[in-house]
Amino acid sequence: MTAASASPPGKLNLLGLDRTGMEAFFVEQLGEKRFRAHQVMKWIYHRFADDFEAMTDLGKGLRTKLSALAEVRVPTALVDQQSVDGTRKWLLSLDGGNGIETVYIPEPTRGTLCVSSQVGCGLNCRFCATAKQGFNRNLSTAEVIGQVWHAARELGHLTHQVRRITNVVMMGMGEPLLNFDNVVPAMNLMRDDFGFGLASKRVTLSTAGLVPMIDRLSEAADVSLAVSLHAPDDDLRDRLVPLNRKYPIAELLAACQRYQAKRPRSSITFEYTLMKGVNDGEAQARALVKLLRKVPSKLNLIPFNPFPGTEFERSDPEVIARFQQIVFDAGIITTLRRTRGDDIDAACGQLAGKVQDRTRRSADFRREVEARSRDAA
Ligand code: SAH
Repeated sequence: MTAASASPPGKLNLLGLDRTGMEAFFVEQLGEKRFRAHQVMKWIYHRFADDFEAMTDLGKGLRTKLSALAEVRVPTALVDQQSVDGTRKWLLSLDGGNGIETVYIPEPTRGTLCVSSQVGCGLNCRFCATAKQGFNRNLSTAEVIGQVWHAARELGHLTHQVRRITNVVMMGMGEPLLNFDNVVPAMNLMRDDFGFGLASKRVTLSTAGLVPMIDRLSEAADVSLAVSLHAPDDDLRDRLVPLNRKYPIAELLAACQRYQAKRPRSSITFEYTLMKGVNDGEAQARALVKLLRKVPSKLNLIPFNPFPGTEFERSDPEVIARFQQIVFDAGIITTLRRTRGDDIDAACGQLAGKVQDRTRRSADFRREVEARSRDAA
């Protein structure tokens, strides 16, 4: 049994409530003043308290009431790995023996946390390791924000009085727009001053291109958007990202334009994973430029990260450099994502295999323990 499933049933997990939800709980359920909700949020997200008894400015009566009805159920880490380049990866345990990976990438001027939204993924992008795992389930709001909470606490936000996590990207496992109702409150908490207080530019949702949900997102949250493009034409994109058959490139770009019109302060980045001989040609770079002219944006080139059993290979460095030069010469801001955390399988598209292995191993382990206890009985 995991720590998460071991907690008493029926208690409300306050980690899953954004400011609106928390205020509603305090005012409507507890008959308390609204500011109590804010106090508790500050205890949880600024001081990493998960025990009401530690919340000393609340008064004994309220603390007792809270303990009876609610809890702050935080994730537990099964594995904590650190790469030689400083990248850190945690495997957090979830109910039912599942695990979820969260990756922290430190850079000189910022620290980015890569957060997962689902266990597995159902979109089946051909070049992504998570796809091989299939879809298991959506993460709850608590499980999404719990990743930030855990990483922030581990990285010493509290003790060092510094902000180690300056950016959060929803680029881990899963398609965040297919878990909209849980992801939006979690992103609200990342943005909220009583939560992690990040600016809209610094919280990014990455999508494979669910057009109607991009429109919904523009109504619901003030965050930046990353769109996984990976191909400059529909024929190729149909093959790499099967979702393209439903929402082809022209419709996707039109949705991006609407997003920009609605959220002028947030930015759009297109992601393009470079695969040898597949999408890295010079003509493809020029075709990409034509597309990107339609949507003011940045381009993030990602050298393909291999994983066992994949048919794709990373493009050669000189091919990557040439591709980048063509886009750059056309006046488009282009970044090349350095591959980080290779030694701990923490790079894009690599979050999965090991989880699955471990999940399978932990399932085997649980079965073994159960069998043993049956034998012993
Ligand atoms: N489902 C969302 C977010 C998850 S993936 C999306 O599709 O955007 C984050 C990024 O890593 C996506 O752009 C994804 O296409 C890319 N990616 C997936 N597998 C990869 C691999 N093996 N190498 C490099 N990038 C990969």
